[in-house]
Amino acid sequence: MKSEQPDALIASARKLTAKFAARAAGYDKDNSFPHEDFADLKAAGLLATSVPKAHGGHGVSISNGDPLTQWRITSAVAAGDLSLGRCYEGHINTIDLVNDFASDELKKELYPKIVAGDMRFVIWGSEPIRQDTQDLYQRLSGQTTAKKVDGGWLLNGVKAFATSAGGATHVVITAALEDVTLSALEQQQWFLADAASPGISIDESWWHSLGMRATVSHKVGLKDVFVADRYRLFSTEQYLGRLWQAKFIPHFSASFLGAATAAYEFACGYLRQRKKADDPVLQNLIAQARVAIDLLDAHLVATAHSWTAGNRDEAALRSNICRAAGEQLSMEAVAMAVRVCGATALLEQFPLGRIQRDLQTYVRHESIDRILTAIGKGCLGIDYDPNFARSDHQARAARAAD
Ligand SMILES: Cc1cc2nc3c(=O)[nH]c(=O)nc-3n(C[C@H](O)[C@H](O)[C@H](O)COP(=O)(O)OP(=O)(O)OC[C@H]3O[C@@H](n4cnc5c(N)ncnc54)[C@H](O)[C@@H]3O)c2cc1C
Repeated sequence: MKSEQPDALIASARKLTAKFAARAAGYDKDNSFPHEDFADLKAAGLLATSVPKAHGGHGVSISNGDPLTQWRITSAVAAGDLSLGRCYEGHINTIDLVNDFASDELKKELYPKIVAGDMRFVIWGSEPIRQDTQDLYQRLSGQTTAKKVDGGWLLNGVKAFATSAGGATHVVITAALEDVTLSALEQQQWFLADAASPGISIDESWWHSLGMRATVSHKVGLKDVFVADRYRLFSTEQYLGRLWQAKFIPHFSASFLGAATAAYEFACGYLRQRKKADDPVLQNLIAQARVAIDLLDAHLVATAHSWTAGNRDEAALRSNICRAAGEQLSMEAVAMAVRVCGATALLEQFPLGRIQRDLQTYVRHESIDRILTAIGKGCLGIDYDPNFARSDHQARAARAAD
């Protein structure tokens, strides 16, 4: 595969938006993974955007020093179907982690298959919520275990919100080692497993959601799932230490931007078609949607610039702001689109209602309240965790060690 220029990649993603949009209602209705869309992404080389150029990819994404190009591609994908955007994000994010953490040997094994479009990745960290602890990582992903056996590990547990279940070929699974001498964040390790491994069972009865149905984020059982030693990637301590949670959150906002843009464009077309475009009240409302969209775009540009400029602290804070702004501005733009179009436009024959319920569901992916608390601490000069994951004392210890 020839490496493409950033603008050409963005253009080829935008060319696919309408195709994805045409299929979105069907996947939503059937609660099914967008296989045909992934085939199109593969054919366009967009499953290898985040593979470094030296290894046959396109060399964009945050681990390659070009987050903005990747975010623009993801926005175009999500503008077609926000569920597809989530599945695609999970794929790209996993490759970023491979770029940062995998051994040279493992990279040599994985990159050719990724470039050929034969791998579809996702990360399964979340678990059915535990009520007995306030610690985010223990609440959401503390029950799956990894037991050492000859040549590898046996994973046992249960995952929830397991996006791309049945669609991904390979899955990064978090699981805790049984070594009590390690901290909880060191115990928790990230393993790369073949999604077809014996012992992985998908429970499709769980994911009947208001929105994001085509992410097929089912509940998944793990029973003695074998993962060879070379597929143990890194610990949550390392993941947080290298600010990966902070690096990933603007990517969500890129998807939110896609959904907001789709709703806005639908609304403009709907008003024109209904001959309402001359109404000053509706012009005012559509302008408010556009302002929100352009503001969100500006947040993504500024955040990308902070990361490429290399100021980690500034970039991490900006990422949190970008994620918070992403939720607020995209929801505002979509609400405006719904308001200008009215109730008829929410009928199932139109995409607007689905876009709204998809976005409303997707923004709940992580806690806006924790993110806002992190931003507030940053604003007030209080030491804080830009991954919005650790307790304050854990964050201080990690920074001291970094
Ligand atoms: C569409 C979708 C796709 C997903 N895909 C994946 C995936 O690919 N991989 C994966 O691992 N996970 C995935 N997730 C799961 C996600 O990362 C979260 O684990 C999950 O959404 C948390 O569920 P919850 O909102 O019920 O949890 P909770 O954490 O209980 O949050 C509930 C609410 O409580 C609030 N809250 C929680 N704690 C506090 C606090 N201390 N102070 C104030 N408010 C608080 C939050 O703001 C939140 O709104 C996905 C989720 C969605 C919605």
